[in-house]
Amino acid sequence: MRKLGKRDVMLMMVLLFFCFAAFLIRKLAGGTEGAYVLVTVDGEIFGEYPLCEEREIPIKIAGETVNRLKIGGGAADMIWADCPDKLCVRQKPVSKENETIVCLPHRVVITVEGAAENGFDSIAR
Ligand SMILES: [Zn+2]
Repeated sequence: MRKLGKRDVMLMMVLLFFCFAAFLIRKLAGGTEGAYVLVTVDGEIFGEYPLCEEREIPIKIAGETVNRLKIGGGAADMIWADCPDKLCVRQKPVSKENETIVCLPHRVVITVEGAAENGFDSIAR
């Protein structure tokens, strides 16, 4: 049995705050503070999502959801896809710099970026 004490709640709040702050700083400065996942579809950037958020991202092609990416606990995982092979769903969650999940049929690529690296060039594809 784990009890959630005041300290734990405080810690979570602090973590959340830093996560949010890091994301904001990264956005404002265009830098790479804080790890995030870059989602590309057919080589085009679909979106960027901080790894510290808890959320699900429907990845859409032509208005239809083809993949579902779940972010939580500092990692990103493909939890659903309507591709025939489902290889992307079987791939392990990613959390480290330059780890990727690829859905070949949909040309969807999920890459972890900004995980404790400075001067990373975001133009790289
Ligand atoms: Zn797939």
